[in-house]
Amino acid sequence: MIKITGTFILIALLQTASAPDPVATMVGRLDFAKYKETIKGLTQFGDRRQGTDRNRAAVDWIEAQLKSYGCTNTERIRYEYAGQQIRPAALRGANGGAAPAGAVRPTPSTIEGGGRPRGVRAATGVNLDPLLQPDLKLREINAQPDAPGPREEVFCTKIGTTHPEEMYIVGAHMDGHGYGEAANDDGSGTALVMELARVFSSTDVQTDRSIRFILWNNEETGYQGSLAYISQRQALQGKENPAGSGKYPEPKWLGMIQHDMMMFDHGAPRADGTISKEQRPEADVNVEFQVNSTLAEQSQTLAWIFEKANEKYATDYPASVGSHMTNTDSGPFQAIVPAISLREAERGTQIGLGWDPQWHQPTDVFATYDDKDFRLGLNAAQTTLAAVAQLAGAALKK
Ligand SMILES: [Zn+2]
Repeated sequence: MIKITGTFILIALLQTASAPDPVATMVGRLDFAKYKETIKGLTQFGDRRQGTDRNRAAVDWIEAQLKSYGCTNTERIRYEYAGQQIRPAALRGANGGAAPAGAVRPTPSTIEGGGRPRGVRAATGVNLDPLLQPDLKLREINAQPDAPGPREEVFCTKIGTTHPEEMYIVGAHMDGHGYGEAANDDGSGTALVMELARVFSSTDVQTDRSIRFILWNNEETGYQGSLAYISQRQALQGKENPAGSGKYPEPKWLGMIQHDMMMFDHGAPRADGTISKEQRPEADVNVEFQVNSTLAEQSQTLAWIFEKANEKYATDYPASVGSHMTNTDSGPFQAIVPAISLREAERGTQIGLGWDPQWHQPTDVFATYDDKDFRLGLNAAQTTLAAVAQLAGAALKK
């Protein structure tokens, strides 16, 4: 009897020692080809400018994809947007063209979000001229201007088994502009969030806490989508509804993780303002928090959890933590809940100084990027998946 018990204990110990790490298994389910395919799918709707039919069609497509992954409890946030991005040329002013390649600009004295300007600053801007898109089919897809009116954005939720009343928010913005395909800004982040929704929705994955996968609209016009979410939902956090049902329509927010421009880290502009055609070997995933925010301490703690998750689970590229998160949907959350953003480069000191020549330009199309670019995006997906799996207490059912 004693002998049999001992054998059983030994077998149990061996099983524990050799049990596959569920986080590693889940990270392994992220697929390079699938990530690229999802970005490609988003680019069929051109630049997905808010307030257009192509933007609405993209929201419908994203929702259908989420459902097909098993994230079936999709919901929409509805709000009004009265502004307009595209106005008649006469009202636009002179700053509406594409950034001339290689143009060097004076170094600014301050940087949005903080940080010190260093090196050469290349031209940046938002392209407002549809005729600068050389692909005539894409020009046609992007032809409709935006109109003020009702807007929608979609999300779905992985419900936690032991703590359904608490959740992490994993987001990216699905709208874009510039008359390209918004492949990198922010098809790359949108596809990342969708791929995570797919992996977490697998029937054998269970999490203690809930995770919400949300694709913001109206980021490019000033975060109206994330602001609408906050104003409609903040007060509902953690409330069981109906009482006694075990259902929490708005779980308490534990953290907000935004993904915005995930693929292009080719280094700083050279002296003549040009950028390398190749992903730099030392490319990294930039995890930023805002040091001048109320919850800077908590947000920083969250950022380092992502850095550690990257160290352990990401296959190709490291993560770097920075303190100047700015200009994305995690901004409106930073005083409410720990908030971070993941990007290809620091938004203020790097992207802001022209490190990404496709930014808001007609060249932000799928065909611009090669596998090293897509792989940086995949590494950001591995980073967030691993971090959130640990934070939410993910396990695989036998
Ligand atoms: Zn963006």
